[in-house]
Amino acid sequence: MSLDKRLGQRFLPYGANYLDWSDMHELREAIEHGVLFRYQTESESIASRLERRVAERLGAAHVLAVHNCTEALRLALISTRPRTGDLVHIPAVTFVAVAGAVLSSGLIPVLVDVDDSLSLDTTLLPPGTERVIVAHMEGTVAPLPQDVPYVVEDCAQALGATFPDGRHTGTAGYAGTFSFHHNKVLTSGEGGLVVTGDTDAWSTMRCYHDHGSARVPGRYPTWNADAHYGENFVTSEGVAAIQYQQFRHLDELLAGLERQHSIAMEALPDRTDLRVLPRAAGDVKISLRFRWESRELRDAAVASLTGRGIANWTLNKYVLPEHPVITGRRSLYGDGFPWSLAPDHPLMLSRDGFARTRDLLDRTLCVPLSPELSEQDQILSVKALRQALEAV
Ligand SMILES: *Cc1c(COP(=O)(O)O)cnc(C)c1O
Repeated sequence: MSLDKRLGQRFLPYGANYLDWSDMHELREAIEHGVLFRYQTESESIASRLERRVAERLGAAHVLAVHNCTEALRLALISTRPRTGDLVHIPAVTFVAVAGAVLSSGLIPVLVDVDDSLSLDTTLLPPGTERVIVAHMEGTVAPLPQDVPYVVEDCAQALGATFPDGRHTGTAGYAGTFSFHHNKVLTSGEGGLVVTGDTDAWSTMRCYHDHGSARVPGRYPTWNADAHYGENFVTSEGVAAIQYQQFRHLDELLAGLERQHSIAMEALPDRTDLRVLPRAAGDVKISLRFRWESRELRDAAVASLTGRGIANWTLNKYVLPEHPVITGRRSLYGDGFPWSLAPDHPLMLSRDGFARTRDLLDRTLCVPLSPELSEQDQILSVKALRQALEAV
């Protein structure tokens, strides 16, 4: 396959897709076993093995596999036993799933402006803040607020990232959530994990994710006298098997990203009107971030890259203060729940009405890195990128 083809074949390629029949040992095992329900297996389920493996690799005390990261966020929030209408501070620049998880849990999102790294600006949090979701966007490790009882780290785009002290993102707050959606670091199409160091929180989440039951694997569920209602977020052995297979490639993938990132940092043009934004050592280098001097130059770069078939994206789609889900305050409930519990004024925290953030985003452009390419192909692809940027 030509390089163009290999680079262009993945829609929004965050990571590589190591999907290959010859490598699907766990999936084969699940199919041959003939049981795809994790709580119906006589030996240890693949889902449990996955949870153990993730716990070891990330240094997390407890892991629970669910269907996607949005559910994982919901579980983390609900496990804090909030009151309906409680506030949850979230980044003003992130995927709308974060707001959706808050609202569908009966809680109210407060949009907090971001800092220069486009991560939630923790200095804007008012004293007494109880719940915050921090998102490590595009593998960029975001700072965590101090003295907030419930910090949930959304690591949907940051599997494998580490803080300067060496801890993995997702393990430093109250809970961390991960996605295996098609566009994430690893993929099983859809899939999610929640991790926590809090044993009680994990028990609560495990009950809630299985109809409120105190399930013993291999048996029909049972409910304790103090059971609360729940939902069904229990993962399938088939999905867990693919996640396990994907997880086997994590280190190779991270190394491939690091390699192409350093090739790019050496080779890309040094121009006064274009900055390649530096990345911290612990970031997952899923993309290169460029900052242009003006929006016009950024848009010209988008056209130049797109015209040459080089994948790229902007972050303007993540501006939640302008998202219809937020501005419309609509709900499927007849009484507008949970918006009906919130004051009418917009729940947003920014020093300048998000003007600085809008300006930064208007001048920012991202290009994905391709960890699965050989070093030679990575060098070629960076050359193609350099040419496209020089043409602007
Ligand atoms: C993708 C994404 C989610 C949602 O993940 P799903 O697994 O698709 O539910 C949440 N937060 C961020 C930052 C994401 O990028």
